[in-house]
Amino acid sequence: MGALSWLPSVPATTRSLVPSAFRWSASPLRSAEIAVPWRGLRPSRRRFPLGRHQSNIADRDGTTPIPREQSEIIFLGTGTSEGIPRVSCLTNQLKTCGVCSKATEPGNKNRRLNTSILIRYTNSIGRFNILVDAGKFFYHSALRWFPNFGLRTIDAVIITHSHADAIGGLDDLRDWTNNVQPHIPIYVAKRDFEVMKKTHYYLVDTSVVLPGAAVSALQFNIIEEEPFFVHNLKITPLPVWHGHGYRSLGFRFGDVCYISDVSDIPEETYELLKDCELLILDALRPDRSSSTHFGLPRALEEVRKIQPRRTLFTGMMHLMDHDKVNEHLSKLMEKEGLDVQLSYDGLRVPVNL
Ligand SMILES: [Zn+2]
Ligand SMILES: [Zn+2]
Repeated sequence: MGALSWLPSVPATTRSLVPSAFRWSASPLRSAEIAVPWRGLRPSRRRFPLGRHQSNIADRDGTTPIPREQSEIIFLGTGTSEGIPRVSCLTNQLKTCGVCSKATEPGNKNRRLNTSILIRYTNSIGRFNILVDAGKFFYHSALRWFPNFGLRTIDAVIITHSHADAIGGLDDLRDWTNNVQPHIPIYVAKRDFEVMKKTHYYLVDTSVVLPGAAVSALQFNIIEEEPFFVHNLKITPLPVWHGHGYRSLGFRFGDVCYISDVSDIPEETYELLKDCELLILDALRPDRSSSTHFGLPRALEEVRKIQPRRTLFTGMMHLMDHDKVNEHLSKLMEKEGLDVQLSYDGLRVPVNL
């Protein structure tokens, strides 16, 4: 079996989940030589240059630097599972899809990959890149934003649920654990870990990997529906329904609440959403909800109920035209004082955590 830790079901301790022999600090701007478990074999000593790009931080326009001590959220992906543009729309001879056509233009905000955010968290110990989900298109998101935004390490991955657009990129983390850092801690609910035992069996049980083959070195930590700590950042799971009888997790950190895959919110979860500064919420399509996702009307209903200071929608399909929908949403600010907008891939939002 690969490394596996169980988190306590009682709220929140600050103890490290990583065995002390393998504990590793993401201090920037230095090299580290660390003993690590290597593909199920005995620990070997490898050298990982850390933080080469970490001082190169710019804001969402790439012009004004964000102070190093400022935490921020980077939207790595804001689209539905198949990605936007859809290939089927671009090959349709009978009908032109306006949104997918626009999405082919470089830099267009309708171009969307699988939903994922990176929490760039700064505390007194250092800076940590905490990823929420690594879906099918993770490599493409990382390729686009990591070099641009001076991101280097992945200090933890938190999993919302085990659909392919949330965990399909776990294999691609090998580039990090082979070349950047010794391992990556993964925080995952038991039900989703059970799925990973099948979909990514060779990452869970590295003893099946042939000697010399390179796979991601992941340390699995099982989370309950209780708060837990990642690099001293308190993360509170926000249990929601994502289709009938299927559970997904949102996460709250500081006064930021992230819910990417939701069709219904259980009553007890509303308690955890109180006094939310920034809500990031699923909104698949403009007209109606699906059986597994909120549509925009329902998402707006929830915003009125939860009353966050600001809301950014995510998980949009190709029926959501970025500029048109945002223009409509801007009117809600005038009418009702609702600060609601669509997010987009590459959006950076400074937050206080
Ligand atoms: Zn389309
Ligand atoms: Zn899903």
